[in-house]
Amino acid sequence: MSEKNVMKLTYGVNTALLFIVFGLMLFFQKLEADFLVYFSIPTLLVYIFNYLLVYKNKLEIFVWLVYFWIILYMGVTTICLGESYGFHLYCFSMIPVIYASDYVSFRINGKNLRSLPISIGVAVFYFVFMGYVRVNGPVYDRGGKYSMFFLVFNSLVVFWFLVLYLNASVRSIIVSETKLTDMAHKDRLTNLYNRHYMLDRLEEVSDEKESAVLAMADIDDFKKINDQYGHNAGDEVLKAVAEKMTSVCEGCDIARWGGEEFLILFCESDGVEDILEKMRADIASSPVEFEGQVINITVTVGMAGGRKDQSIDEWIQDVDNKLYIGKNSGKNRVIR
Ligand code: GH3
Ligand code: MG
Ligand code: MG
Repeated sequence: MSEKNVMKLTYGVNTALLFIVFGLMLFFQKLEADFLVYFSIPTLLVYIFNYLLVYKNKLEIFVWLVYFWIILYMGVTTICLGESYGFHLYCFSMIPVIYASDYVSFRINGKNLRSLPISIGVAVFYFVFMGYVRVNGPVYDRGGKYSMFFLVFNSLVVFWFLVLYLNASVRSIIVSETKLTDMAHKDRLTNLYNRHYMLDRLEEVSDEKESAVLAMADIDDFKKINDQYGHNAGDEVLKAVAEKMTSVCEGCDIARWGGEEFLILFCESDGVEDILEKMRADIASSPVEFEGQVINITVTVGMAGGRKDQSIDEWIQDVDNKLYIGKNSGKNRVIR
């Protein structure tokens, strides 16, 4: 979310709270709950002052002031009207809000808010004012005429808060975890898997090696491409080769194994040689255009099925040896 949107949202939240407090003030007047009417005045002043805090970009102070005042307001209204109005329920929605703010604050400026002591403080305050009202009864005993409406309304708001905040927090955790996993598993330039991920994949299929095929593809004379067209052109070629390989190999795992070397794992051995031959031919017949220059590319590929008595390293070495044979026998070919 951009800073401008955060400001807009904050102004919106503050205005909504201001209207709610004003509406409740009128209601308290109707109930003749004088103390609550008076208490609404500093509350309104706090929310008016909040505009200044937001304008001055003091968002952290704004957040703490809002939390503090909501909790105080909740305690005071519960002591005055009793628990049947459901104002005490806001305690429960404040806790995930505090933790979600902690997470957002950590993401924005690496700062941890003190969620644990604050939530314990909220819980202690809850027991204090609930205990008080249980022992002494509400200050204004106004019967149950409006309490049902407030209980339903406040419960709905609390549920809405809980669902909204928990949903947003969990979604955001999933998004960042997916991003991190991708970053840990993928090569940034080509968006293919990286060497570490491929080694893990090979360990996973280690017991079913006999039905799998491994291939190593290496771009021919890539050093010359870099020398002739420049390193950026070389990077473009790597991306183009990666895209071509991905489009030809369905259901296989492709990793950038080294600079211009790619390791491809097929879990099914049927038709692998044809796929690799098609991949080689496709790459050879689709030159890469870069800044008005046409760059011809070819790859040499070594392939080998796995054997039970082989280690992963031996299997890779086997494929590498085939690649070496291909490089020594004219390049641009698939060797099995
Ligand atoms: P061969 O046909 O025998 O494979 O020859 P080659 O020139 O492709 O192989 P060599 O190993 O001699 O050169 C590989 C080159 O790949 C050298 C290195 O600078 C280049 N390279 C490695 N990683 C990158 C990269 O990320 N981007 C670019 N542009 N070049 C890279
Ligand atoms: Mg090469
Ligand atoms: Mg190489």
